[in-house]
Amino acid sequence: MDLVEFQGKQLFGRHGVPVPPPGAVCRTVDEIVEAAERLLGDGASAVVVKAQVKTGGRGKAGGVKLASTVDEAREHAESILGLDIKGHVVNIVYVEPASDIAEEYYLSVMHDRVAKGYLVICSAEGGVDIEEVNRTNPDAVIKHSLLPSEVTDGLPRETALDIVTRANLPEDAREKAADLLVRLFVAFREEDATLAEINPLIKTDDGRVIALDSKVTLDGSAAFRHDGYQEWTIEGLEAIEPLEARAQAEGIQYVKLDGSVGVLGNGAGLVMATLDVVAQNGGHAANFLDVGGGASADEMAASLDLVLSDEKVKSVFINIFGGITRGEEVANGVIEATKRLGDFEQKLVVRLDGTNADEGRRILEEADHPNVIPAATMQQAAAEAVRLASA
Ligand code: GDP
Ligand code: MN
Repeated sequence: MDLVEFQGKQLFGRHGVPVPPPGAVCRTVDEIVEAAERLLGDGASAVVVKAQVKTGGRGKAGGVKLASTVDEAREHAESILGLDIKGHVVNIVYVEPASDIAEEYYLSVMHDRVAKGYLVICSAEGGVDIEEVNRTNPDAVIKHSLLPSEVTDGLPRETALDIVTRANLPEDAREKAADLLVRLFVAFREEDATLAEINPLIKTDDGRVIALDSKVTLDGSAAFRHDGYQEWTIEGLEAIEPLEARAQAEGIQYVKLDGSVGVLGNGAGLVMATLDVVAQNGGHAANFLDVGGGASADEMAASLDLVLSDEKVKSVFINIFGGITRGEEVANGVIEATKRLGDFEQKLVVRLDGTNADEGRRILEEADHPNVIPAATMQQAAAEAVRLASA
């Protein structure tokens, strides 16, 4: 589960990772104004109004703004609530006392899946897109792998100090950053996180080192080990994608993506492979949809109807490997579904393989539906679907 910023900061706070003074979680303009009044009244020279959505780049999108007066806070409240940040609509805003930034760094802990250990990433060039820094100036990003045997008693302080030193953090920030990293590592492990990222980690004007932002992902498979795990779920955090909401209601395994090739397959593994082959052919998948074991006319019609409701979809790639589900059933399901759906513009490229695939392909050929294009292989189907989507 991904936490939003204020939750990540709460979690950091529990483990002694320094964060800004506590703020207020708000859902309305009035609540934001009230919080700003209180915090400014308590001596903060400014407050920062921050959109709480599960995506990065909020600052660039206008979702993070400083206010030194209550009126300014009100203006920001009005512009940030309801703002769409990369498809995430802001329903919750966090208002906290603003920090004075002298410098911005980057620090994160994650799993190193290949080495079955941990990976600490640190850079003196934080605040900005770290992937970009890594591309343009890879030497500025220190990646330090750790085996479990090296951290049986936690991350040794010397190691932490070595990492922040090699990352070129200035001398006056190193000791504090190293202490913070040791604690961040404890937080990461004890909370069963899969990612704990701080961007920016800042040095304040008065020389403190604190986490100004947080991005934390917790491992849902470890939820049973944590009392109160479910309390991280926030009601109404973001407006849910309408098509995903509909899929949920209809019991369809569907994830909306950004491309133009609708994808429909049986079995999650095959659907993922289908996304890959669409990408290899230069296309962009519009969704992930697993019709599951059955591919009855009903299921096929409901699934196709959902995929075709996405206005970005220009073609659909139906990729079925017959096992228990036989080829002729799938073919009949597709033809029956097209009848039920009535008129639609997009072409459906159908690749059938496995049990009774020949029979299925014959049914598709005979039906001779103008929008149904049988394909012999997965590769041919992908190429055709991508071509149709970009035509
Ligand atoms: P993100 O854009 O989603 O990563 O959001 P961040 O929380 O990282 O904020 C983006 C940027 O806003 C930071 O890199 C800072 O430059 C700035 N910012 C955020 N909070 C404060 C604050 O308390 N004081 C000041 N001066 N700037 C801030
Ligand atoms: Mn950030």
